[in-house]
Amino acid sequence: MTLFESQTLQQDPPKCGQAFTQNTFQSTLEDRAGQKLKIRINDNRSTWVSIRWESDLTRVSLHRMFLEAPTNVMEELACYIRREHRTLSPTVKAFIEDNRRNLDYSWTVKPEALEHQGRWHNLLEIYDTVNREYFDGKVQLFITWFGEPDRRNKTRVSFGLYQDTLRLIKINRILDKPDVPSYLIGYVIYHEMLHYICPPYLNEVGRQQIHNNEFKKRETLFHQYDQAQQWIDDNKAMLFAN
Ligand SMILES: [Zn+2]
Repeated sequence: MTLFESQTLQQDPPKCGQAFTQNTFQSTLEDRAGQKLKIRINDNRSTWVSIRWESDLTRVSLHRMFLEAPTNVMEELACYIRREHRTLSPTVKAFIEDNRRNLDYSWTVKPEALEHQGRWHNLLEIYDTVNREYFDGKVQLFITWFGEPDRRNKTRVSFGLYQDTLRLIKINRILDKPDVPSYLIGYVIYHEMLHYICPPYLNEVGRQQIHNNEFKKRETLFHQYDQAQQWIDDNKAMLFAN
């Protein structure tokens, strides 16, 4: 069962290669891929790499970050375009992860679209309390409810998630119930705030360490940590179907 999900990223600064212009990027990638390409550079935050192999040409859509890709990343990307790899290589993935961290799309969040007031709980009030108590009120993130109050999943549920490029915490409406104590929601919010405070990092084999040791250590500092764990344990029946 997954209680939390995260879309956060690691802390290391990106390794910047020499920046390409769009033209030099095109010729470099075509050289390495050994074919003509239709390249589109986008500033889209959901698609980092998209390749469509068509009969007459290959269409490549890449995030702007690739204009600063180092040689090894360009090489691996070219292998993928030549279809020598079936999936993106770890090097390219790590490059994307490294760079994503620095992307800030929080300006696209429309504050009026955020829903703080649930039927039973006000997220902003709980967030402010947690922020004051644990972070001196210094953390600045958005927060909103998501999902349906009665949507239950048989095997897993995310109580909360954190979208780092939006600086946005989302809390599942299944927790917006009168019998869910506000400290439990506070605990979930605290957990998501920790994703901002303790970002994941890549370990030596290139794996993302999301709930890393530092994260786990800080998580237990939540005053009602044991109580929250116990509550989750005791209320599985309410939260999960079956
Ligand atoms: Zn988490």
